This record gives sequence, C-alpha cells and structure tokens, in this order.
Amino acid sequence: MVKFLIFLGLFFGTIYFFYYKIKTFFEKSLFPHEEKKSNIPPKVNKGEMVKCPVCGTYFPVETGVKAKGKLYCSKECMEKDGQ
Ligand SMILES: [Zn+2]
Repeated sequence: MVKFLIFLGLFFGTIYFFYYKIKTFFEKSLFPHEEKKSNIPPKVNKGEMVKCPVCGTYFPVETGVKAKGKLYCSKECMEKDGQ
C-alpha cells in the first residue's frame, strides 16, 4: 500500500511537472512579450505611435497633426505649442 501511494505521488507529480512545463512553453510561444507590452509604452521607433510633445499622449502617426516639423495629437496641442 505504501509503495502504491509513493507510485501515485510520483505519477501525479510527473504529470503536473510536464503540464506546467507545457503550459509555460505555450504561453511563452503564443504571447512572447505580453508582460513587457503592458509595462512599456508603445515604441516610437516603430513609426506607428508617437508621443505628443505638449500633453505627452501616445497616438498613431496617421491621426497626428503636423506643424513646424513636429507631430501633435490634436490641433489644440499644436496651438498650445505655438503660443
Ligand atoms: Zn497632445
């Protein structure tokens, strides 16, 4: 009986070990930088998101307002910077 319990413990221990390994492996391969994305603001060098020099908000380049070689999130910020 004792041997059976030890075998059972090892059996489920091994299954749990492999389950944990596979789970973490799939999480890493499917979402490689999920944690980093939530902590670090969008990168400027990607050319997709830029930081507004007035209010500091990140916005897509396409929606930005260009003026004097700078990109602003809105016309309001552009006018604020000009004053
Ligand atoms: Zn702004």
